[in-house]
Amino acid sequence: MKKLIIGNWKMNPPSVKEAENIFSGIKKVAGKFEKVDIVLCPPAVYLEHLIWLNKKVKIKFGAQDLFWEEMGARTGQISPAQLADLGVKYSIIGHSEARELGDGDEEIMRKVKASIRAGITPILCVGERVRDVHHFHFAFIKKQIETALSIISKNDIKKVVIAYEPVWAIGKNAEREATPEECEEIAIYIRKVLSDKFGPIAKEVRIIYGGSANPANAEKFLAHGGVSGLLVGRDSLNTKKFAEILEIANKIK
Ligand code: PEP
Repeated sequence: MKKLIIGNWKMNPPSVKEAENIFSGIKKVAGKFEKVDIVLCPPAVYLEHLIWLNKKVKIKFGAQDLFWEEMGARTGQISPAQLADLGVKYSIIGHSEARELGDGDEEIMRKVKASIRAGITPILCVGERVRDVHHFHFAFIKKQIETALSIISKNDIKKVVIAYEPVWAIGKNAEREATPEECEEIAIYIRKVLSDKFGPIAKEVRIIYGGSANPANAEKFLAHGGVSGLLVGRDSLNTKKFAEILEIANKIK
C-alpha cells in the first residue's frame, strides 16, 4: 500500500499568493514520489484556485472540515457536495482544534457519514488530550472511534482514514513528541477496535499518525510506528521540509 502523507495547513498562510507559492514548491517535486499519495488540506478559501493550478499533477486536495447537510440555511458551513464539486477528495474530520471549538462525537459521526456519501474520504482524527497512569486514553479513543463510526457500514469502513493524533504531541506547544512505540501501540489498538466492530475488513483501513511529524522523526513513525502515513501540520507549510518527509515516505517499504 502506498504511504499517505497529508499536509494540514490549518488557518495558514494569510494570502492566496503565499498559498500558491507553497503549493508550487510541492508541485515541482510531487512527481518524484511514486509510492506516496500526497494530499494537501489548505484553508477552504484557497481550494478552488489551487485545484485549478493542480491540473495534471498527482496531488490530491482535502478540506479541513465539512458540514453534514447538502445545502440550505446553514450560514458559514460548507457542504460535502460543494467540496466534491470542486474536486476535493478528502476531508479532515474531528481534528482536535475543531473539537476544542465545539465539535462533539455526534457531529463528527454525521460528518463522517456525509463525507462518504459525497465520495470524499474522511480523515477521522482521534486522540487523547492527556495520558495518565490509569491508561484511560484507550477507553477515550475507543469511544471516539465507536461513536464516529456508529452509522458506517462494513462496505464503507475501508473508505475511512483514521489519524491518531495525541493532542499533547500536536503543535508548537506540544508537551513532547510521541515515540514510535506509543504510536504503534495505539495503531494496534485502533485496528482491534475496528475489527471488533467491522470484522476482517478492518485490516484495509488506513491508520496514520499526526503530532509534530517532521523530517527528523518521519522515518521512525513510518517504519516502526505501525502506521502507513502521516498527518503533518507545521512542516507542511515549509516546502523543503514537506518534500523531505515525502522523500522519506517514498523510500520506506
Ligand atoms: C495537526 O494539527 O494535525 C498536526 C499534526 O500539527 P503539527 O504537525 O504542527 O503538530
